[in-house]
Amino acid sequence: MTLFCKQCNERRLPIVFAKDKPPLWLCGKCENFADGVDTIIRELTKEEKEDMEKKLNDFENNTKLNGEKLKRRKGVN
Ligand SMILES: [Zn+2]
Repeated sequence: MTLFCKQCNERRLPIVFAKDKPPLWLCGKCENFADGVDTIIRELTKEEKEDMEKKLNDFENNTKLNGEKLKRRKGVN
């Protein structure tokens, strides 16, 4: 099953690249994509990884700011 990575048994996440195409399944641990029949398509690129980390950071920052005062934390840029 594509839902789980056959290399490490972690859950794969469906990533949609185009609306008219089926999603590719990303394993965050192995950092590769598989298609609907569990064939490894390609590795996660450095750019995609950075983009995902950036989105995750944005999400975390937004969550922290909700209902909280803006505070400057030491040691964090
Ligand atoms: Zn994996």
